[in-house]
Amino acid sequence: MRQTITILTILTTLGLTSFVVPSNRLYLSGTVYSDDPKIADQLVGLYIFVKADNEIITGDYVDTAGHYDISFIPGDQTSFDFYVTTLGIDTTFLKSFIQFDSDKMTWDIKLPNEPKKKLGGVFCPKCTKTDKVYPIIYGDNQVVQQKVVNGDTTYTNIVDKKYYAGTCVHYLLSPNWYCDREKIKF
Ligand SMILES: [Zn+2]
Repeated sequence: MRQTITILTILTTLGLTSFVVPSNRLYLSGTVYSDDPKIADQLVGLYIFVKADNEIITGDYVDTAGHYDISFIPGDQTSFDFYVTTLGIDTTFLKSFIQFDSDKMTWDIKLPNEPKKKLGGVFCPKCTKTDKVYPIIYGDNQVVQQKVVNGDTTYTNIVDKKYYAGTCVHYLLSPNWYCDREKIKF
């Protein structure tokens, strides 16, 4: 009798445990790579992270094998935006996921993440439009434009359809485009 109770207790415990473990945790991993040997040398230590509703929810550093590995529980956020960054390189938008086909996914990331271009226009990888996308200009001289709206003075980095980065520090992996609709660099 005592044995039966023990077995029942174990079964109940197992049952409860499997019940509370979330079934929708997403496991996403992949390799970060580049066709450019100079860039391929700089991939170890890059930080890949996910932002949802303006909050960083997870991230991982690219290891010596060029691999990253993340996991999180997607909630009801509108999208899951993947970014890459490292010391000296501005946060660069990679890709936005609205939903995930599976809870175990592989996504290999090719860098640089070349945006789609058509007739001179560059498509923003998030809003998929071209009209607010400006080239990022790196250089010592920061150019800002003063705007007065309803008596309030603000400054913008965008002057004559160019976005001034405010730094001359520019690496091979630095973003080259800015979307003023999404406020992202890519
Ligand atoms: Zn955009």
